[in-house]
Amino acid sequence: MHDICIIGGGYAGSAAALQLARMRVNVLILDQGLGRNRYSDKVHGVLGFDGARRVEIKRQVDAQLANYNTIIWMKQGAVAVSGSWDHFSVDCEDGQTISSRRLILCHGVVDLLPDIPGIQSCWGKSVLHCPQCHGDLLQGKQVAVAIARKEQLGVILALQRWQADLTVCLMDDVEDAEVITEATKIIRTPIVGIEHEFGLLKTLKFADGSSLDTQFLVLGTEQRLSVNFARQLGCTLTRTSTGEHIQVDHRWESTIPGLFAAGDAARAKRNINFALADGYAAGASAALSLGHTAQAPGVFDLIEP
Ligand SMILES: Cc1cc2nc3c(=O)[nH]c(=O)nc-3n(C[C@H](O)[C@H](O)[C@H](O)COP(=O)(O)OP(=O)(O)OC[C@H]3O[C@@H](n4cnc5c(N)ncnc54)[C@H](O)[C@@H]3O)c2cc1C
Repeated sequence: MHDICIIGGGYAGSAAALQLARMRVNVLILDQGLGRNRYSDKVHGVLGFDGARRVEIKRQVDAQLANYNTIIWMKQGAVAVSGSWDHFSVDCEDGQTISSRRLILCHGVVDLLPDIPGIQSCWGKSVLHCPQCHGDLLQGKQVAVAIARKEQLGVILALQRWQADLTVCLMDDVEDAEVITEATKIIRTPIVGIEHEFGLLKTLKFADGSSLDTQFLVLGTEQRLSVNFARQLGCTLTRTSTGEHIQVDHRWESTIPGLFAAGDAARAKRNINFALADGYAAGASAALSLGHTAQAPGVFDLIEP
């Protein structure tokens, strides 16, 4: 029986594992190694790692976690979960079953890309999901932004501040709005194809036969949870305009006692900084909960330093 099992060893899962190791808790991590940002070579907006290569960050994380003999890392997927407080079971791809007192879900989300030929090759390279992460890359470049829902119109405001050459592609009959100024070029016909060279966008093709040469496309996606474990265990999920996430309280505990969640899987606003902070907090909370032998939500809390 392990104290804690973490499903997903990305930013949130690794941060949780580090904190658990610091608190001398035995932890087993199951990880398939398919982090959400694997399509991008570099990471931005993370203090101390801005512009660092993703694989280099991963190498450093692995090396630091390897210093702790309380961490077991298994490079494989979890295929099923069951159980409750003090008695969780996780079935692994290789047929083993892991038992743990607490479970932390850090499995992240999957971006649901629209069905446009060429988009997958450009994703994370020249088709970008977030002007906050990538604004700096776009400066002085030809940029188009695809708006599929009115909730995404704020992206235009962010881009218009520094982007002289901006084309707005309104998909799915999104109505014009005040944020689309007269200076902005607007295209109101769906994108049906992307021409690129090795993932670098060259031309957007539209349903009416027209085309637009551009270097970047900003495209917000909907996301789904990577796996359905939270739903299967009976957790409450929250739906927002970007998809579902696992509802957690201020201890990062879900509505199922002893089941914690962190990172993209447990929030609507998703980036690495949040995942690191959430992972740390979920790890610390889960560790503190081990001192309680009965299912007693609300009796443990993060220690105030
Ligand atoms: C293209 C792209 C670029 C991005 N760039 C940035 C950036 O520069 N800066 C930034 O702050 N944010 C960036 N983001 C967002 C960032 O990637 C996420 O917010 C972050 O990865 C969330 O961390 P996480 O640990 O919750 O999930 P992830 O990093 O996605 O890790 C989840 C892990 O769980 C594993 N997993 C899933 N299911 C299972 C299972 N059943 N069993 C075992 N393991 C499983 C996955 O394989 C993966 O290793 C980017 C996103 C995208 C799409």
